[in-house]
Amino acid sequence: MINIQENISLKEYTTFDIGGSARYFVEVKNPEDISKALTFAQEKELKYFILAGGSNVLFSDDGFDGLVIKIDIDDINIDGETVTCGSGVVLLDFLNILAESSLSGGESLAGIPGTVGGGVRGNAGAFGLEMKDIVTQIHVLNVETGENETFDNTQCDFEYRNSIFKKNVQYIIIRIVFQFVSGDKKQIQNVMQEIIAKRNTKQMQDIKSAGSFFVNPTVDEKVQKMFEQDTGKKSHDGRVPAGWLLDGCGIFQKRIGDIQAGVEHANYFINMGEGTAEQVIQLSAVAKTRVRDEFDVHLREEVVLAGF
Ligand SMILES: Cc1cc2nc3c(=O)[nH]c(=O)nc-3n(C[C@H](O)[C@H](O)[C@H](O)COP(=O)(O)OP(=O)(O)OC[C@H]3O[C@@H](n4cnc5c(N)ncnc54)[C@H](O)[C@@H]3O)c2cc1C
Repeated sequence: MINIQENISLKEYTTFDIGGSARYFVEVKNPEDISKALTFAQEKELKYFILAGGSNVLFSDDGFDGLVIKIDIDDINIDGETVTCGSGVVLLDFLNILAESSLSGGESLAGIPGTVGGGVRGNAGAFGLEMKDIVTQIHVLNVETGENETFDNTQCDFEYRNSIFKKNVQYIIIRIVFQFVSGDKKQIQNVMQEIIAKRNTKQMQDIKSAGSFFVNPTVDEKVQKMFEQDTGKKSHDGRVPAGWLLDGCGIFQKRIGDIQAGVEHANYFINMGEGTAEQVIQLSAVAKTRVRDEFDVHLREEVVLAGF
């Protein structure tokens, strides 16, 4: 039995703390429940949206006029250095369990909010490590065929903040298989604490936001050179930080209503209180226009917009 609820406020389910209500809302613990939820949506001719940790989503102020399926698959199986994890497990909980089991390899991801499944979909990364570096296999439900499928790492088209699962919404990630190496428990825990402390000094943690709002774009050589001269840093794969572009055209700390661009840099849009999705969209439009006019670069949202 699945428990489909009506009129559930979505803001509580997002780190942005923004958004109206879902017409229908269900939490699912296993693939069978997902299939039941999808059948419900199909029978009622509803759109559906897959929600996990809600740390990379902006829901409209009008909410979502369909079924929101919240992924809560939370089993973990440890077999030596091979670990299989349900997609709904909170990433930090997962890393803490690995540390307790003296398994090393994922420490640099400590402090990235959200779930393991959400992280795999967007190939989340920090401090030089990305999900793609530790994942070996992904088990998914293909909504179009109703079949379960397994992808090996090389079939996932992982790239910067992208994967085959992001490009093809018919895949719902169910479980992920990881390969780690045995290490020293205390040392693993210390590294994780250091990483989290670094994130805290960058004021990246205790704020109401959805992380980086725009993807770091690829730019032409002229803009790459400007970035390198200005910062003394190298641009990687032809990309420059969206935050640098935004800062460069006066978006840093620009505020519309209760939404402000940045504490550390302008690519974090922060809900300073009672911010609305409308205000986020307005700030985003101003930011995109300025960056286009100043640098001839088109910014693309990393944050997923739902219900617009
Ligand atoms: C303060 C802060 C700091 C952040 N720092 C970083 C960082 O350092 N590096 C980084 O990469 N990101 C960062 N992020 C962004 C965010 O944490 C990641 O993108 C995270 O991996 C999203 O996971 P989630 O579970 O919250 O996904 P959600 O926000 O719930 O969903 C995001 C998208 O993934 C889809 N999705 C989620 N689960 C599944 C699934 N099981 N199957 C199919 N689709 C699914 C959803 O439909 C949606 O389209 C940060 C965010 C915040 C708020």
